Amino acid sequence: MAAEVKINESILSLVEGDITNENTDAIVNAANARLAGGAGVDGAIHRMGGPAIMKECRKIGGCPTGQAVITTGGNLKAKYVIHTVGPVYKDGTKGEAKLLKSAHLESLKLASSRGLKSISFPAISTGVYGYPVNEAANIALKTVIDYLQEHTDIELVRFVLFGNETYDIFSEELRKLI
Ligand code: ADP
Repeated sequence: MAAEVKINESILSLVEGDITNENTDAIVNAANARLAGGAGVDGAIHRMGGPAIMKECRKIGGCPTGQAVITTGGNLKAKYVIHTVGPVYKDGTKGEAKLLKSAHLESLKLASSRGLKSISFPAISTGVYGYPVNEAANIALKTVIDYLQEHTDIELVRFVLFGNETYDIFSEELRKLI
């Protein structure tokens, strides 16, 4: 399954799958603030990418919520991993939306600053961190669409969604936004 829209000359696409198989210049990791690895997509990226990624994470030391840092992609097809930290969802009134937007925006800015042309995102914060998928999808997609409308350097942004349910919700939210 895949959906695709064009924004200026760039492509925004949604696919169902495992982000560790992606061949974009960078994949984004839904990391934690200590960059310590963990469950979910974070664990999968470190397992597939090998120890070089953790070695750099240790050197960097940490990443505040809503910010992003970059490491090698190790053994992954992607050359880089951009580690960003999404918010833990409490009740929606604790600045979650702003932080989730920032996590996406800072990842995009970091990719641009390194001259990267393609980047893949997972559904940040929607697993262990508990963000309702429809709300997270709206924020994630809107942030990317706005960015691509204003910046032409990134040619491809792909959301790689784990499971049909998440994919379907992202598709629905994308349809509402365009
Ligand atoms: P968070 O702590 O930010 O909530 P999680 O890793 O728990 O991060 O979940 C974020 C999203 O990533 C969830 O939708 C989860 O299903 C998904 N996910 C887990 N493993 C993978 C993977 N290998 N590729 C893409 N998405 C994944």
